[in-house]
Amino acid sequence: MTNLKGKAALVTGSTSGIGLGIARQLAGQGADLMLNGFGDAAYIADLCQSLSTEFGVRVAHNGADMSKPAEIEEMVAAAEAAYGRLDVLVNNAGIQHVAPVDAFPVERWDAVIAINLSAVFHGTRAALPGMKARGWGRVINIASVHGLVASVNKSAYVAAKHGVIGLTKVTALELAETDITCNAICPGWVLTPLVQKQIDALATSRNLSVEEAGRELLSEKQPSKSFVTPEQLGELAVFLCSGAAGNMRGAALTMDGGWTAQ
Ligand code: NAD
Repeated sequence: MTNLKGKAALVTGSTSGIGLGIARQLAGQGADLMLNGFGDAAYIADLCQSLSTEFGVRVAHNGADMSKPAEIEEMVAAAEAAYGRLDVLVNNAGIQHVAPVDAFPVERWDAVIAINLSAVFHGTRAALPGMKARGWGRVINIASVHGLVASVNKSAYVAAKHGVIGLTKVTALELAETDITCNAICPGWVLTPLVQKQIDALATSRNLSVEEAGRELLSEKQPSKSFVTPEQLGELAVFLCSGAAGNMRGAALTMDGGWTAQ
């Protein structure tokens, strides 16, 4: 068990999907939370309240747009102001756009690179001074199997995720003599809204039911033929916060049902 009582964690893109799964597991270990991400105000207020009640931790939300560097800096400062510290930064927010390279909308390329790659840089550079001052920290970057291998029609996403793995390594090396680690997690398919959109598109393009499209998506890439879950990824994030993981530096850890083992 990793006791995170008295520590504070910021998980970007945690109003949904993987980020929410990770936030729940960190709260389960006692960490105070700063959530981030879009969503209806009433839903977000409920989410903060219910996590706080369930885990007995403080939970706040900051609506920073991860494509805007100044808002990311302000969010890190807000987390430090709320809790007096920021110990765990999970760079998770991400978007997807699917199109062939020569038809890829320039505006979508810029958005994917800004949110999936540049935001990791901006969050990390804002959080590190405080972590260094306190002498402990964990930076966990949610990359993807697409940080290691490619798929057609995902040029921006694959480029961004490969970039995240490179940035993870550099950050880890720069911090190698400290108690601050930086590692990446590389999930395969996880059934979240981001993937549901791709399943729905497959169902339409191949005239399949949504269930058939989900099975088809898995069988193309993921040998386990089952989705990785946000809970499993959250448990891995908790492990990366443990003392046992204190000398894991710059790793790209797959949790992908065998996708990259093939
Ligand atoms: P999701 O769509 O369920 O959640 C994305 C979160 O990011 C939401 O909270 C959303 O509000 C937030 N977000 C999006 N744009 C934002 C912005 N500009 N500013 C602030 N917040 C923003 O997606 P997910 O599947 O949970 O993905 C989370 C991360 O995991 C992403 O980085 C994604 O690339 C990665 N990932 C997902 C899968 C998968 O199969 N779902 C696989 C590998 C990696």
